[in-house]
Amino acid sequence: MTMCEHMIEADDPAARTPQGCEDCLKTGSRWVHLRRCLECGHIGCCDSSPNRHATAHFNDTGHPVIRSYEPGEEWRWCFVHQSVA
Ligand SMILES: [Zn+2]
Ligand SMILES: [Zn+2]
Ligand SMILES: [Zn+2]
Repeated sequence: MTMCEHMIEADDPAARTPQGCEDCLKTGSRWVHLRRCLECGHIGCCDSSPNRHATAHFNDTGHPVIRSYEPGEEWRWCFVHQSVA
């Protein structure tokens, strides 16, 4: 598997809200799984969650790569290339 340029350039910032999805915490919503933005450390919820904040964060900011924020999961996802690495 080849990493795209976004994966190669991606940083590994600390989570801004380690306790959960930043936007769900504001509104009191629930989430299913968590994803961490590798540009700014934003924690957002996955596409199985009602609010899909990880995807919304990409649409708002253009930050291309997220990493799973679930225990034991290491995979990354590039929104631009729709690829996992
Ligand atoms: Zn990419
Ligand atoms: Zn959320
Ligand atoms: Zn971000």
